[in-house]
Amino acid sequence: MATIISGKELAKSKKVQMAEEVKKYTAKYGRAPHLAVILVGEDPGSVSYVKGKEKACIEVGITNTTIRKPDTISEEEVLEIVEALNNDEGVDGILVQLPLPKHMRSEKVIQAIRKDKDVDGFHFSNVASLYLKQPGIVSCTPKGIIEILDSISYPIEGKRAVVIGRSNIVGMPVSKLLLDRNATVTICHSRTQNIAEITSQADILVAAVGKPRFVTADMVKEGAVVIDVGVNRDLTTNKLCGDVHFAEVEPKASYITKVPGGVGPMTICCLMENTIECYLKHIKE
Ligand code: NAP
Repeated sequence: MATIISGKELAKSKKVQMAEEVKKYTAKYGRAPHLAVILVGEDPGSVSYVKGKEKACIEVGITNTTIRKPDTISEEEVLEIVEALNNDEGVDGILVQLPLPKHMRSEKVIQAIRKDKDVDGFHFSNVASLYLKQPGIVSCTPKGIIEILDSISYPIEGKRAVVIGRSNIVGMPVSKLLLDRNATVTICHSRTQNIAEITSQADILVAAVGKPRFVTADMVKEGAVVIDVGVNRDLTTNKLCGDVHFAEVEPKASYITKVPGGVGPMTICCLMENTIECYLKHIKE
């Protein structure tokens, strides 16, 4: 039987701590941190994520502005909004909710965000900082995964970590963070052969595939720590489910996260942390 690591509870306690700090900072510096979110269109997933972010801002005491635009808006207009927020000294963090409508170049919009307001950590400069071990903003999901491991005081150093997925937003950065903590890291992807042979050697297994219940019991080492990043819709039940077959894997793991209530809440929590980090940098400049 594994211990279930509740990202929800961890995020809750971290948000309480952050709220205390933000209260002190607001009194000391005369204004609260400010996060601006741009939401284009009405994709239900995006609307729900943005709501979650607004709720977290309220809990922590961060000022939140959500700019909602219809999906008929042009790329140029979105770039103008980003530029205005870049120039607004009262805004510390800018987040463009992805995915953007197909007629826009997401990369162009993301790269237009000032690097010191890039709370998602997607700007080339912040990505480069991660790979070159320089100070910068680390993207929220990978950062949250490391905080989850730290919450159980898991000794990452020297452990064998296997990450399934090599996306720029999860697989690659979490692999780098694990490597920086001296794990021996293997990255699996859609062309990996004999994947179960590799994953079943993992002390830490991170699943970021985007396929419901992809990780089955035969793919997991006895006693492994299993982090499920996936957010998938189960087409039979219409409920959310992860990339890990929880019922099968849980008895073999030592620690495991659940979906929902695992990595997702920690991603939002790290967005709050990044906003505060940007704010402190701006306030001290
Ligand atoms: P993505 O960009 O689609 O990447 C998926 C990765 O999985 C790719 O690297 C792909 O390999 C690999 N893959 C696909 N099929 C595979 C297979 N059969 N065997 C091994 N690897 C395979 O997805 P993502 O953005 O990284 O997101 C992954 C999941 O995490 C999604 O469910 C997403 O919704 C979720 N997510 C959750 C949060 C959160 O806060 N909880 C945040 C971000 C993402 P190739 O590179 O070879 O195509």
